[in-house]
Amino acid sequence: METRHYDAVVVGAGPGGYVCAIRLAQLGKKTLCIEKDNWGGVCLNVGCIPSKALITAAKKFESISKMADMGFTVSVEKSINMDKMQAWKQKIVKRLTGGIGTLLDKNGADRLIGNARFVGGKDLEVDTADGTIKITCDDLVIATGSRPIQVPGFAYADDRILDSTKALDLNEVPKRLAVIGGGYIGLEMGMMLAKLGSEVTVVEMQDSVLAAFDPEVVKVITRKMKKLGMKTYTKTKALGWEEGDEGAILSIETPKGKEEIIADKILVTVGRRPNSEGLEATGIELERGKIIVDDQQKTTVPHIYAIGDITGRTMLAHGASYEAEVAAEVIAGHKRYYKALTVPAVVFTDPEIATAGLQEQEAKEQGYDVKIGKVPFAAIGRALTTGETDGFLKTILDASDDRVLGITIVGPNASDLISEAALAVEMQAEALDVGLTIHPHPTLGEGMMEAAKQALGEAIHVLN
Ligand code: FAD
Repeated sequence: METRHYDAVVVGAGPGGYVCAIRLAQLGKKTLCIEKDNWGGVCLNVGCIPSKALITAAKKFESISKMADMGFTVSVEKSINMDKMQAWKQKIVKRLTGGIGTLLDKNGADRLIGNARFVGGKDLEVDTADGTIKITCDDLVIATGSRPIQVPGFAYADDRILDSTKALDLNEVPKRLAVIGGGYIGLEMGMMLAKLGSEVTVVEMQDSVLAAFDPEVVKVITRKMKKLGMKTYTKTKALGWEEGDEGAILSIETPKGKEEIIADKILVTVGRRPNSEGLEATGIELERGKIIVDDQQKTTVPHIYAIGDITGRTMLAHGASYEAEVAAEVIAGHKRYYKALTVPAVVFTDPEIATAGLQEQEAKEQGYDVKIGKVPFAAIGRALTTGETDGFLKTILDASDDRVLGITIVGPNASDLISEAALAVEMQAEALDVGLTIHPHPTLGEGMMEAAKQALGEAIHVLN
């Protein structure tokens, strides 16, 4: 069997693995990145990027009807060509994933397509199209990511049942869609398909959809869901489904009793589980399927590191990439630690949600005496000029020293606005650092300045 030795080997080429391999190569390590499917992992192939492409397409489709308010007469009949939409999405994915290969090559990292098996300590056997190759290394990084959790009775192999990957590949908009799980992936997809014409029903076990978010934020989203004709059941359990004359019959248990929903497709989005099978030979310790790591991404076995979804720490692409750089630099001998004060989170619903630092209820639960500043987008000139005024920006301050504990945004371009908030939290800025920074006019960013000032009772464009 062909045997190769490397300074460092990274298994998995998602936003954790490929970033780690690039950084290792930049730091002079002879590096190999192994991927069994596609460069870019879940994020680029079947996650962040394709979902945002389709969400953008659906938003543009929806906006056609709104144009009459701006003085356009829209006489074309709205129609959707899903094949074309999918081709457009796939072009974006192809361009980005192709770029990953080039980046690995140009930075001097070797790459190999094949399924890596962990056969002992840091020894691997990789099954490639040309046979099995034995790989040994000084340092091993496990970045094998995660996959959708399967709900018993809802097998993804069945045509009626969709996981997020299948939902991103639809060539027809389902007339009636049931979504099991009202978390961020379920709502992103559900709203996207509702805009494309699906009658969507969301079934959520908890008291609320998006239960991890500020209830005031959730209210803005549920209002929009209703506008899109979406139905929501909370405190409701999906019991099972069977084939009926008019489609799938989904049985649910609501607080008021049992009901049935007829659907053409059932999308199951109840969370993701780490791909941590087959790691026994490495000797590393896991906790509920996640690899245990310290603040340098070291596992319980020397010279074996883990990053990204497999650690369960952030379950976000940018979290994986941050951990990747920490691991690479530690392997290269740098004193680097996982020290982020915040991992900003974005939900690409309509409107978008974004948080950095603590949300209001989290700050209160942690015992902070808080000052809150809140500015509706309707008070921001730029929001009015774009016709998108739903939502608000909320600043959460530590009342003792006016330090920014967190910023929560629901509204237009929240995904872009949140980076300033993340910087404020990370730098432990005070409200006046944000409030006295001159923000250009007219922009949505002025809302950040205004929300910081409002918490201090000094806002100009909203009442304090
Ligand atoms: P992954 O991206 O899962 O990559 C792991 C890779 O390892 C895979 O390519 C896999 O094939 C490979 N692999 C596994 N086992 C082996 C093996 N034995 N040998 C070789 N290769 C192997 N996150 C965000 O931050 N923003 C978003 O907007 C966002 N949207 C999302 C939308 C959807 C629909 C989904 C499903 C996820 C979304 N995520 C989002 C989450 C994000 O995709 C993940 O957090 C991220 O991909 C994790 O990166 P990773 O490198 O840990 O693992």
